[in-house]
Amino acid sequence: MSTTMRTTVAVVGGGYGGIAVAKALDDAADVVLIEPRDTFVHNVAALRGLTDPRWTDRLFIPYDRLLSRGRVIRDRAVRVDAASVTLASGTRVDADYIVLATGSAYPFPAKTGTADSATAKERYHAARKALADADGVLLVGGGPVGLELAGEIKAVWPGKAVTIVTRDRDIVPGDYPDEFRAELRRQLDAMGVRVVLGARLREDPPSAAGEAGTFTAILDSGERVIAGIWFPCFGASPVTGYLAGDPASARQDDGRLTVTADLRLPGLPNVFALGDITAIPEAKQAGAAAGHATVIASNVRALLDGEALTAYRPGPPGIVLPLGPDGGATYAPGWEDHVDPGTAAQIRRHAEGRADTLLDLGILDAAMTSQIKGADLMVGDYAALLGQDDR
Ligand SMILES: Cc1cc2nc3c(=O)[nH]c(=O)nc-3n(C[C@H](O)[C@H](O)[C@H](O)COP(=O)(O)OP(=O)(O)OC[C@H]3O[C@@H](n4cnc5c(N)ncnc54)[C@H](O)[C@@H]3O)c2cc1C
Repeated sequence: MSTTMRTTVAVVGGGYGGIAVAKALDDAADVVLIEPRDTFVHNVAALRGLTDPRWTDRLFIPYDRLLSRGRVIRDRAVRVDAASVTLASGTRVDADYIVLATGSAYPFPAKTGTADSATAKERYHAARKALADADGVLLVGGGPVGLELAGEIKAVWPGKAVTIVTRDRDIVPGDYPDEFRAELRRQLDAMGVRVVLGARLREDPPSAAGEAGTFTAILDSGERVIAGIWFPCFGASPVTGYLAGDPASARQDDGRLTVTADLRLPGLPNVFALGDITAIPEAKQAGAAAGHATVIASNVRALLDGEALTAYRPGPPGIVLPLGPDGGATYAPGWEDHVDPGTAAQIRRHAEGRADTLLDLGILDAAMTSQIKGADLMVGDYAALLGQDDR
C-alpha cells in the first residue's frame, strides 16, 4: 500500500465509532483523536454500572493504549470546518481528512454527562445509594434504556417496585415484530415490573432525576404513581452544534447530518461522519457506528491510494435487549450471520428437533440474550480494542 505517513486524519469524538476508525487508520496516517473525556466510556454497560458497584469502574477504559502512532488530545471541538478543527483551548488542528464522530447526548444514567471519569463514578455511586434506599422507582420511557434499567434494578433488588411509564402505544418502538415485544412484556411481568402504555406525566416529579425524594407523579389519565426516585429514559440528541462553514449545511432540522453513500458530507470530499450523528435510516447503535467506521477507514485508504470508494449498506434491523444479566430477548433476523460461531452452534443445538416459533421469527430467548450480551455486556471486546484486555 502506497499510503503516505504525512496525511493527518482528525477524528472528532472517541466513542464507539471514533475509536474504531482511529485505530483502523493508525498505520496509514497521522491520526489525531479529539475527545474531551479522560477515558472511553462503555455506555452499553452504563445501566449496570449504576446498579452493581462491581461494574462502575469497568465502564471507564483508558485511551492510552489505543493508538501506536497517533495521539489523543483531551479537548472539545468547538468549531469544525472543511479543513480544520478548533478546540476549546484555542488550538487549531489542520487536517487532510476529518471524521465527525461526536455521537449523541442522553440523560443520566444512560450517559454520564461529564468528561471527568472520577466525577462520573461518584455520581453513579450516589445514585445507587439513593436507588437502594428508595421505596419505588419510576422510569419515564419504554424504549431499550427504560427496559434495560428496569431489568438491572430488578436483578439487584427483586422486591423493589418499578413502574415504566411510556407515551408510546407499546414498548420498544421500531421495526420489530410484535412477538418480540410480547416476549419482553412477558418477562417484565414475571419480574413484577409494571408498564403503563400510552401515558404521560402531567409534570416532572419535584425531586431531581436520580436523587432520593418520595413523590406522587400524576399521569394524564389521573392515575397516581408513588415512588422514591425517578430516571428519564428518553431524549437522545445528536451533538453537531460545532459545525461551521460548508459542513454546517449538512445539518438537518433535528441536528443529524446528511451523508453520502460513502459516508461523506455532501460536496465535501474530505469530511466523513459516522454513528449517532448521521441521518442514515437505521437504529442508532454502537454496532452501526462500528460498521460506519470500517467503511470510512477503507474509504480514507482508497482516497490515499487513488482507488474507488465503498458504499455503506445498513445491516438488517436487530437488537439485543437484556433484562438484567440473565433475562431479555434478542431480535436478530438472519442471526446466524450475526452471532459468533460458538453461540450459533449452541442456538442450533437448542432448536434441534423442536418447533420454536420465536426462533423462526429471528427472536432469541433470555438464555441466548444473556450469552450474547447480558452476562458480560461486551466489555471484554472494547477493552481489547483499546489495548486494555489485561485489565
Ligand atoms: C444505556 C445504553 C445502552 C446501549 N446499548 C447498546 C448495545 O447494546 N448495542 C449497541 O449497538 N448500541 C447500544 N447503545 C447505543 C450506542 O451507545 C450508540 O449508538 C453509540 O454510542 C454511538 O456511537 P458514536 O461513536 O456515534 O457516539 P458515542 O459513542 O456517543 O461517542 C461520541 C463521543 O464524542 C465525544 N464528543 C462529543 N462532543 C464532542 C466535541 N465537541 N468534541 C470532541 N468530542 C466530542 C463524546 O465525549 C463521546 O466520547 C446503547 C446506548 C445506551 C445509552
